[in-house]
Formats: sequence, C-alpha cells, structure tokens
Amino acid sequence: MPASTEMIIEGLTVQVQRKPIKNLYIRVVPPDGQVRVSVPRRTSDARIRRFVAEKLDWVRYHQQQLRERPAVAPSANIYEDGAQVPLWGREVPLRVVDLPARARIRAGAAWLADEEVIELSVHEGAAPEVRTQVMNQFYQEEVRREGLPLLEKWAQVMGLSYNRVSVKTMKSRWGSCSTKRRNISLNSELAKKDPRALEMVVVHELVHLLEPSHNVRFKALMSQYLPDWQQVQRRLNGR
Ligand SMILES: [Zn+2]
Repeated sequence: MPASTEMIIEGLTVQVQRKPIKNLYIRVVPPDGQVRVSVPRRTSDARIRRFVAEKLDWVRYHQQQLRERPAVAPSANIYEDGAQVPLWGREVPLRVVDLPARARIRAGAAWLADEEVIELSVHEGAAPEVRTQVMNQFYQEEVRREGLPLLEKWAQVMGLSYNRVSVKTMKSRWGSCSTKRRNISLNSELAKKDPRALEMVVVHELVHLLEPSHNVRFKALMSQYLPDWQQVQRRLNGR
C-alpha cells in the first residue's frame, strides 16, 4: 500500500496517496466522510491544494449526505401478529387484525393507547409489502402528529417561517430542507426513534433556513438551541 500523507486544505483533513497514475482523484469515504485524494507521484502540493479547493462544494455535499444518512437502513420489519415493533424509542406489541378480503374498510394501523398495542388491520391474504406500506403510513402520521407542533414551536423560537412540510419514508436521510422554497421534509423512520431525535432533526432543518451549510455557524446555532444535539445525533445514527 502506498504511503499516505495528510494535508490540511481549507480546513479539511485530506489523506493524500501518491500512486503510479495519470490523473488526480478525490473520494469521500464512508462512514465518517474522510477525504482521500490519489495523485500521480510527482504532483506538487500546490497542485493538490488547487485540485481539492476546486472540489470543496462537492466534498461538503457528500460529507453532508453521509452525516444525514441513517447508519442503519430501515429494516424490513416483519409485521406479524405478536411482533414487537419500534415506536418512539420503545418496543410495543403489534396486533394484526384480518379484515375480510372483500370488506370495503380500508387497511390501516393505529396506536391503541389504553391497550398499549399497535393494531394493524389488513385484508386477509395481504402481501407482506402491504403490511409494510400500511405501517409506513402509520409512522408517517405519527411523525406528522408529533413533528408539526415541534416545527411550529421552534420556528417561533427562531423567529422564522417555513412553507410546506412533508413526511416521507426515506432510506438515506432523516430530514431535508430546501432553503429556497423553505420546504422541509421529515423521515417517517423517526417515529421508531427516541422523540428527542425528531426534535433534533426539526431544529437541524430549521437552522438550515438561517445557515444552509454545516459550518461553524450552523453548529453554533444548533448548540444555542439544543446544547446536547451532537449526543442526540450520535445516538440516532448509532455511533
Ligand atoms: Zn443538514
């Protein structure tokens, strides 16, 4: 393995490998977004600095993608009668109710608080994917119910406004914010996690309306509003 040296370029720690190659390559390596550059053997440090500097936006974008990517992709839960399923950081029992195949009642799931059970009603013989679909809808509603008041509360605290909120079942991020349109989306998978995670993501996306990138100012704002946000984020990503 060729020796690698470390360079600090524009505040980024970059691992540089000199190899018998013709071009310069840059990579952002999971899970923590380390930056690696491979360069031809005789490339000067100045050339490497210029190369990385030109790619800064690209690097930051990919590092952000990695940071916001759930460490564990949503598991293909088997939603069977009696299974324990996650809800707001707890494991709760699932009760599956078979609806007659021809019944005109819609499939659905609900949290029955007095019975401490999630009741999933599906038509007899429904495919496992249908159960997953119905449960995802249930989690979406949960995140909407808990998330919307949190968004309102924190938007008021920060003195800003947002436009549209959507809750989707996503595989690669906990939330997102389009700063131009001021739209926010939240991942329904958050309903499986500790409620503090939802609050942290809500604050994270709102802070993006003040600061689009994950820079020092962004982190300072996060700490101002949620002093332990980094701890919550680490726990959420299983790190
Ligand atoms: Zn972000």
